[in-house]
Amino acid sequence: VNVVRLKNKAQQPIRAVKLEFLSASSRNEILEAGEISIMHIKYKVVEFFAQANVLICSNCYGIGHFRKNCNQKNEATCKTCSEKCSNLKEHRCSGIQKCVHCGGPHVSNDAKCNVIQQYRTVLTRNLLSKITPTNTENVIPNQCFNNLPHTGLTTTNELSYANVVKGTTSNSNELLMKKIDSILTKVEEESNSTRQSIEELKKEMKNHYEETKQQVAELEEKVMVMEKKFYDFSVRTGEIIQNICTTLMEPQNSQGQQWKTYWQEQIKVMADSRSSIAKSSKNHQNGPTN
Ligand SMILES: [Zn+2]
Ligand SMILES: [Zn+2]
Ligand SMILES: [Zn+2]
Repeated sequence: VNVVRLKNKAQQPIRAVKLEFLSASSRNEILEAGEISIMHIKYKVVEFFAQANVLICSNCYGIGHFRKNCNQKNEATCKTCSEKCSNLKEHRCSGIQKCVHCGGPHVSNDAKCNVIQQYRTVLTRNLLSKITPTNTENVIPNQCFNNLPHTGLTTTNELSYANVVKGTTSNSNELLMKKIDSILTKVEEESNSTRQSIEELKKEMKNHYEETKQQVAELEEKVMVMEKKFYDFSVRTGEIIQNICTTLMEPQNSQGQQWKTYWQEQIKVMADSRSSIAKSSKNHQNGPTN
């Protein structure tokens, strides 16, 4: 058995001590009896409850929910400067501490934050009023509290998160509800504005895409024109080469009287085609060369 002298808020020892039991059964026996005798003096015994744990979201640092249930879907909040960004890894932190709750110079999950402390106090008080013997039994198996005379010390135990969440949702305390409500509203507003900016980004990307698509289509058309030209040129060249071969076999007879004019014309046609292809390949840079 561990004996711990309890202190009040000013860190001064009070008359109550906390007994920590290694054995759950002896702890339960004493709790059931409601008293303990030491040196023939009977002391009143009540169950000990530690301060309630406050849920702080590791995504938005909001109070009262897990990361999994966070409403801030597309952004993460920097713990240090409380700035929001879509990718924390790319976030360049100023290093200046600014609490997301109170704006004070500490990280956003600092237990000394006034807002978090206030929340914890309200939550603890609320949980205490909700606790029934059945749900405390399995919460903290080997601690019990020996309360000397009537010092009504009020603390809660380390409740499971589920209990804490249950406690918050079934809470009737106006202050607490108001606070949660304002936090949730803030988170929702932020997530809405994020969604909006993402929509805008999407639209912009779509416009970019359409523009690029059009450019690609234009380029494809140009390439097709080039190919057509090149094809025509090849066909013409083939014809001319064929004529040359025929002429070589029968130089004087192949083109009749106009054979010289005919060849001059062919040379001119070749030159024109070449220069036209050279021109378009210069315009498009990646066109065929000759
Ligand atoms: Zn959150
Ligand atoms: Zn930061
Ligand atoms: Zn703070």
